[in-house]
Amino acid sequence: MGLELKPSKTRITHTLNVTKGKPGFDFLGFSIRQYPVGKTKSGKDCQGRLQGFKTYIKPSKIAIQKQVNKLREVIDCRKHSDQETLIKALNPIIVGWSNYYAHVMSAQTFKKLDNIVYMMLRGWAVYRHAKQNKHWIMGKYWRIDDGQGWVFQPHNSKWRLCRHAKTPIRRHVKVRGSRSPYDGDWLYWSKRLGRHPEVSARVAKLLKNQQGKCQECGLYFRDREKIEVDHIIPKSIGGKDAFYNLQLLHRHCHDKKTTRDTG
Ligand SMILES: [Zn+2]
Repeated sequence: MGLELKPSKTRITHTLNVTKGKPGFDFLGFSIRQYPVGKTKSGKDCQGRLQGFKTYIKPSKIAIQKQVNKLREVIDCRKHSDQETLIKALNPIIVGWSNYYAHVMSAQTFKKLDNIVYMMLRGWAVYRHAKQNKHWIMGKYWRIDDGQGWVFQPHNSKWRLCRHAKTPIRRHVKVRGSRSPYDGDWLYWSKRLGRHPEVSARVAKLLKNQQGKCQECGLYFRDREKIEVDHIIPKSIGGKDAFYNLQLLHRHCHDKKTTRDTG
């Protein structure tokens, strides 16, 4: 394809064994390497044989440090702002970063970051009330007794600090090795991406919702089968042309339902 590697950014490394330097590599803020593991956790090769190791992807150390620096900077230059202003500045940074890393092994990193944020905010709060006792300060800025633990939130305000660790981790599902977006199996790709050049957005969304199955017979749609959009409550008796009233059916299943609907 005419791509070339930049020598200064290129190095050869082992992803499992320690050779020269640390195993694995960093890429786009992710740290990628393999770890030896036992039978139950071992990855498998394409023929199902145990490999004895597993590939783990985590946020890279440099990326974590960058996030800490950014949070510190925001807190430092708001030494005299009110709590709500500080929360509004921090939340997008926390949510954005967490979403970027929500598809890899980030749970531990998220917890660690929340602890660091807490320490920094404690410093922020204590600095503002040098003469007050700690207990009073904590009670002013953290909702402790509301049953949700330590929540950084002003009294009488709906603004509360988001947490990295509140982000659900949803593992990325790998594209099957034998697949290509050009292989013509639009069913697989519509379900996966929710879109395919030859499938309308509406059908793709329905396919994804229905997990690729017909709502009438419960069987999977197969490639080249005729799929039709059906109004769950027929339009003739007031059913709307809205998404919630639509479903995908096999053509023959659709015929069956229409017969039933028209009595
Ligand atoms: Zn069917």
